[in-house]
Amino acid sequence: MRRDETWRRELQTKVSGEIRFDEPADRHTSMGVGGKIDALVFPKNPEELLEAVAFLKANHIPFLPVGNWTNLIVTSGGYRGALISLAAICAIEEKKDSNGTVCLEAESGVSLAELVAQTERRGLSGMEFCAGIPGSVGGAIRMNAGAYGREIKDVCVSLRLLDPVEGLRTVTRESLIFTYRNLDLPAETVIIGAVFGFKRGEREKIAGRVREIISLRREKHPLEFRNAGSIFKNPREIPAGRLIETAGLKGIRIGDAQVSEKHGNFIINRGAASAGEILDLIDLVRKRVFETTGYALETEVKIIGE
Ligand SMILES: Cc1cc2nc3c(=O)[nH]c(=O)nc-3n(C[C@H](O)[C@H](O)[C@H](O)COP(=O)(O)OP(=O)(O)OC[C@H]3O[C@@H](n4cnc5c(N)ncnc54)[C@H](O)[C@@H]3O)c2cc1C
Repeated sequence: MRRDETWRRELQTKVSGEIRFDEPADRHTSMGVGGKIDALVFPKNPEELLEAVAFLKANHIPFLPVGNWTNLIVTSGGYRGALISLAAICAIEEKKDSNGTVCLEAESGVSLAELVAQTERRGLSGMEFCAGIPGSVGGAIRMNAGAYGREIKDVCVSLRLLDPVEGLRTVTRESLIFTYRNLDLPAETVIIGAVFGFKRGEREKIAGRVREIISLRREKHPLEFRNAGSIFKNPREIPAGRLIETAGLKGIRIGDAQVSEKHGNFIINRGAASAGEILDLIDLVRKRVFETTGYALETEVKIIGE
């Protein structure tokens, strides 16, 4: 990484969109934690994104794409390098029908909430399972987000990628490796957007399913506190939340970081938790669950920073 700070000024010449220097991550992460980011970049369009990535790559500045920050913990030491937000790259367009499938092309900055709302309005079925997941299209694809027996890979037809080595390319779902809460891509590869395929359905039925899922989530999840969704991946045989409950860890607290009483796989920020407290609690839970049940839990949430 370049040691001098001039790269930040040079980066500004590549991007007309906003760049925030020394931006506190706690303003963005859904957990409300994290130290300063050297540069948080908001390219206005894919061309600027391309320029920014080429510049960062050429200057050996570490960078990562970010979406809605709902599966992300930035450490208290902050992030050295640039985080690239795709928030301003957020167009949606309907494509032609083919074989009874209606395709929507959505750029990565589109929120899942917007995509669910658009499919509902157009009477398209297939996206209902994402109701209430607070991520963006890009983050959801990178995480292969899922709920209620479906995953984003089930509705994804193709992706537009910016690969720091191979450049811009469009790839079909079949050529990608989606697994549970992961798409196998290098961390620096930016998902610019995706084409999704849906079936025509009854608008009322789709809306009903969306309402039902949102109310189930309100019932089960501690949405009254800041959180990052499920902290751990579920082992194949048993939900992580049940293991955490079995280990007697519901409600356990370090500072303002607490394992939710409502759902064992959620850690909530009761107000002033730091990233350090949350990470200490994650370690504690992992250790105690292993001692009690023999399961080695793996984090689903991404942890970045120093
Ligand atoms: C209340 C709550 C409920 C949740 N429920 C669920 C659920 O039911 N199911 C589920 O799967 N998840 C759930 N989540 C977790 C989270 O919302 C999803 O993983 C979501 O898809 C993450 O999207 P994001 O845009 O917030 O990604 P971010 O948190 O911004 O990033 C997540 C990862 O994706 C990468 N990334 C982001 N954008 C891009 C891009 N354009 N190109 C390449 N990589 C990118 C980041 O580098 C990071 O590694 C929940 C979270 C919360 C807070």
